[in-house]
Amino acid sequence: MSSSAVVWDPAVLAYNLGEDHPFNPVRLDLTVRLATALGVLDDVPLLVPEPVAEEDLFRAHTAEYLAAVKQAPMVGWDVGHGLGPPDNPVFTGMHEASSLVVGSTLLGARCIAEGRADRAVNIAGGLHHARRDAASGFCVYNDCAVAISWLLDHGFDRIAYVDTDVHHGDGVQAAFYDDPRVLTVSLHQHPFTLFPGTGYSAEIGEGQAQGSAVNLPLPPATGDSGWLRAFHAVVPSLLAEFRPQVLVTQCGVDSHDEDPLADLALSVDGHREIYRTLREWADTHAEGKWLAVGGGGYQLIRVVPRSWTHLLATVLDRDVAPETALPRDWADHVRSLAPKAELPVRMTDGAGAAGPGFARWGDGLDDPVDVAVRDTRRAVFPLHGLDPDDPRD
Ligand SMILES: [Zn+2]
Repeated sequence: MSSSAVVWDPAVLAYNLGEDHPFNPVRLDLTVRLATALGVLDDVPLLVPEPVAEEDLFRAHTAEYLAAVKQAPMVGWDVGHGLGPPDNPVFTGMHEASSLVVGSTLLGARCIAEGRADRAVNIAGGLHHARRDAASGFCVYNDCAVAISWLLDHGFDRIAYVDTDVHHGDGVQAAFYDDPRVLTVSLHQHPFTLFPGTGYSAEIGEGQAQGSAVNLPLPPATGDSGWLRAFHAVVPSLLAEFRPQVLVTQCGVDSHDEDPLADLALSVDGHREIYRTLREWADTHAEGKWLAVGGGGYQLIRVVPRSWTHLLATVLDRDVAPETALPRDWADHVRSLAPKAELPVRMTDGAGAAGPGFARWGDGLDDPVDVAVRDTRRAVFPLHGLDPDDPRD
């Protein structure tokens, strides 16, 4: 049984882009309430984060950008750096709230680096689009990039980052695109069809780091079985070769069929299976070290609370059975906020106790997911000494 740290402070709910913005912090509150109601967090000390120190923000951001974020609420307009448009509106306390999100992920990283925990989770993190000098895609500061950079300076020199959000993990990829110490892997909906329009299989890293960026763009409407088939066809072979000392995962749940912003078709059961698989791979390939953060997810009531309760439970080795009924107290609370919402009743979308099944790649099927798998394997596998056309690799 490994030790696990859960980072949580309701103060992160201040990262609030506005009433009508899809990135609504209620999703985090409903997740913690559901996990608590199901007993997942019983006797688990919740680690309270501090805002990240400015010197650590400079790991991933420029001084000019930090100054713009701090000034934006006073100036109100035209501060540049991606701040102000509807995706990234300026809000009061933006620097402070964003700093606390980064501090939360960094606290998880510190717990692992200092040997206080083998695993850590921060569902408020995963702001993977933030750029060195600009906000992007609802993300102000890039907690993933800051934490990875910090780990590189504190005893780790092989870090694998796996991003399962429906959007390409572009900000994290860019931060380490020429750094062979960081393997970034992103599975996402095809960039032709979705923000941010990057994440092609041909994006493989540069210079000495060629092969350390891996992208697997999937066709719209890909469901659990296709997604899991692609996941298994690409990621474990790379992890086995790269031998990371820690696995960092961005666990966005906007890949769900009901997500309003994107068009993949995963289920809550698919998400649960992803987390269980990441845990297994952390144990097998990353010395048992796993830092998990949240990410996107805009079906605030029916999807995010259930999926991330499964994430918390998986990190804690307290897996919640899919057939588990949702507690009445939780449902009553949600109804008090959203009287017309159609509530789920169980922790499953119907896959059954065995979870969603999938066929292994290389069994002779040839559909658009397989074409994507082949392109990605051919782009990067040879750079890791792996045979892209041999299903055993
Ligand atoms: Zn996303």
